[in-house]
Amino acid sequence: MLFSSLPLIQPILKAVDKKGYTTPSPIQEAAIPVIVDGKNVLGRAETGTGKTAAFSLPIIQSLSKLGNKRHPSALVLAPTRELVEQIKDSFVSYGSFTQLKVLAVYGGVSDRPQKQKLAKGIDILVATPGRLLDLINQKAVMLKFISHFVIDEADRMFDMGFIVDVTKIMNMLPKNKQTLMFSATLDREVMALADEHIGTYDVVDVANEKVDLEHITQQLFYVSKRKKIDLLKLHIKEGPAVQTLIFTRTKRGADQLSKLLSEMHLKVAVIHGDKSQHQRLRALQGFKSHKYEFLIATDVAARGLDIPALPRIINYDVPEQADAYIHRMGRTGRAGLSGDVYTYCSKEERLLLKPIFKELESPLSSTTHPFEEIVEAKKIQARPFAKKTGRHRYRLSGRKR
Ligand code: AMP
Repeated sequence: MLFSSLPLIQPILKAVDKKGYTTPSPIQEAAIPVIVDGKNVLGRAETGTGKTAAFSLPIIQSLSKLGNKRHPSALVLAPTRELVEQIKDSFVSYGSFTQLKVLAVYGGVSDRPQKQKLAKGIDILVATPGRLLDLINQKAVMLKFISHFVIDEADRMFDMGFIVDVTKIMNMLPKNKQTLMFSATLDREVMALADEHIGTYDVVDVANEKVDLEHITQQLFYVSKRKKIDLLKLHIKEGPAVQTLIFTRTKRGADQLSKLLSEMHLKVAVIHGDKSQHQRLRALQGFKSHKYEFLIATDVAARGLDIPALPRIINYDVPEQADAYIHRMGRTGRAGLSGDVYTYCSKEERLLLKPIFKELESPLSSTTHPFEEIVEAKKIQARPFAKKTGRHRYRLSGRKR
């Protein structure tokens, strides 16, 4: 994908080109269209993934249409002075073909020059929480006109004890604004902060897509829709007793399966879009603490949750998108541990396999399976996908590994 395929205006594409970027990074590809669309976003991304451009390009685009303002229209909070400086520099270079004014404020230095610049009028303010509160108390900055608000490295805000200040600032902001929150992890605290302050938001999560296929064994089972449950029972009964994450395509499917497994006296939890954030986190915690042996999830619900490394994933339904397959698979085989991914495929679902095989660059190999009695099955042993895995291990030189 090229930057020009993203919904970005010429001055921004020009600046990106000047920086020498050729292709957007995964977080940019995923987040930019959603942010340009005006949605609130909770993004999981670590430093080095290109997240700064992911939020700053759409903000520059939106503000450049409005023209300069006396008071800041965009506020970015970051936990450290270095990060604040880096973010400011990014805004300056990505906005080099616009007239927008950017200012960085942080503690540990005199506030006078910062106040002077604020008095002259700025569009984008990048700040550490403590210094920003100082400046607000001195009436050197007004937040009444903020239309775009970003919290970068939200997890570190918690770790560094800044969250009280961050919350104070959030409570001063206008209700009507776009909020973007980025964090390397989406743990309980971060999700709770988002739930309390953002309202509705989209989760953009690319952090887990580093899939180490060397340690993953993938098996595909052709099985009629009706007999999937028999195959699952067999896998549960005959396979090793390991914690298993089961994916279904629909919420209803997840509930039905959960009921069936509960009837088998298995300890099972379920997460899907109709469950509250609180219920999802409780299910996840129970799963993490081994209170539950099985977690049944839909893709949407699993996104944004920090699901631990698991020995077994079962795709009870074939995912509709190849990316979802990779994403599901990324829940296993981590940190050198081995993992199994079983995919149950009914006749109706066969068409969905094509893009997955294309993504994996792996053909089907011959049949061997222990379940002939029940199903007609085929087994694929994936080749080491060094090349294709590269798509998910993005190096920010603009090239793919
Ligand atoms: P960040 O994760 O935002 O701190 O960005 C990490 C580094 O990647 C910065 O030096 C950026 O200039 C660079 N970068 C951001 N986006 C891209 C891209 N699409 N292609 C190449 N480099 C990029």
